[in-house]
Amino acid sequence: MTAPRLWVPKRVLITRSAAEQPFASQLIGRAERAGVEDIRLLPNDRLVGLRGESERETYALAKSTLAVVVAPPSALKPQPIPPSADWRIDLAKGCPAHCQYCYLAGSLGGPPVTRVYANLDDVLAGIPSHLGRGTVTTGTDERGGEGTTFELSCYTDPLGLEHLTGSLAEAITRAGRGDWGHDLQLRFTTKFDAVEPLLGLAHGGRTRVRCSVNADTVSDRFEGGTARLPRRLDALRLMALAGYPVGLTIAPIMPVDDWRAAYGRLLDDVAAALHDVPDVDLSVELITHRFTPSSKQTLLDWYPRTRLEMDEDLRTQKRSKFGGVKHVYPREVMRELRTWFEAEIPARLPGARILYWT
Ligand code: SF4
Repeated sequence: MTAPRLWVPKRVLITRSAAEQPFASQLIGRAERAGVEDIRLLPNDRLVGLRGESERETYALAKSTLAVVVAPPSALKPQPIPPSADWRIDLAKGCPAHCQYCYLAGSLGGPPVTRVYANLDDVLAGIPSHLGRGTVTTGTDERGGEGTTFELSCYTDPLGLEHLTGSLAEAITRAGRGDWGHDLQLRFTTKFDAVEPLLGLAHGGRTRVRCSVNADTVSDRFEGGTARLPRRLDALRLMALAGYPVGLTIAPIMPVDDWRAAYGRLLDDVAAALHDVPDVDLSVELITHRFTPSSKQTLLDWYPRTRLEMDEDLRTQKRSKFGGVKHVYPREVMRELRTWFEAEIPARLPGARILYWT
């Protein structure tokens, strides 16, 4: 088997407050072992030198930088994150990959530096304080069996950083050991494949690992810096064989040319990857492509030559409860896509549970 895709930042910046955290020495040790040559302890908590001469340069500089910081109080309070989970817990913010539709484009302010949180105990303290609360899975008929759920990949791809942090393994181990009781599930989704360090953990079935996948035509064109699709499916298979509940995040779904054939190949490849895994617990989340005025602008700054369709005239506007605008596919396109997925998933992946469509 070839080596997994591992990101090695060009530089690691550690703020003064982060350096005082016990977890910081593990983060520094991991960066050294990964071969990072430029590791700097900053004299204060300000991250400086993140901007280049142009948007492109700023992007390149930020995407090759890992910052070790202390999560601010605002990041410590778990937030509801429907329809994925009851609560969002952030181990990090930012991602080293280069997806041209990146979900983070509208939500990260400033240069897209990856920040990992050194005060891991503070971050994880949001789990016990929110057990038994929530409206997405806790106490619901459809997903109550998952217990209270905590999404770890809302603002990052935690597996893509795990070789540099170890924070995912720590969270999985604490959940598996029963530190927070039995009625909860952690969940994360990833486009990376370095699952080997997670395979032997005593996870207790309390972490669901989802593989973020797409039609090969979408993935090959738009998902730079990630593990290739076949590698992700190998990783999914290994996690399922290790007894983890697993899942697919099929996102962002796009009606590209010949989309039925392309998504059909994807579902068949998943079926082949999992065909001999006994008692696989497989969930599927279906998320269509959308953009906002601000995410479009950010993505065009980051990827000025992108061929990603972000044409308002081809979309329908959807307003959020806070008045923001999202551009989604028109009703008829949505209906066609949804009808196809809801028929083909049970046909090609019998036993898979569709959690939601959005
Ligand atoms: Fe953005 Fe996810 Fe791609 Fe990372 S893997 S660049 S978070 S879309």
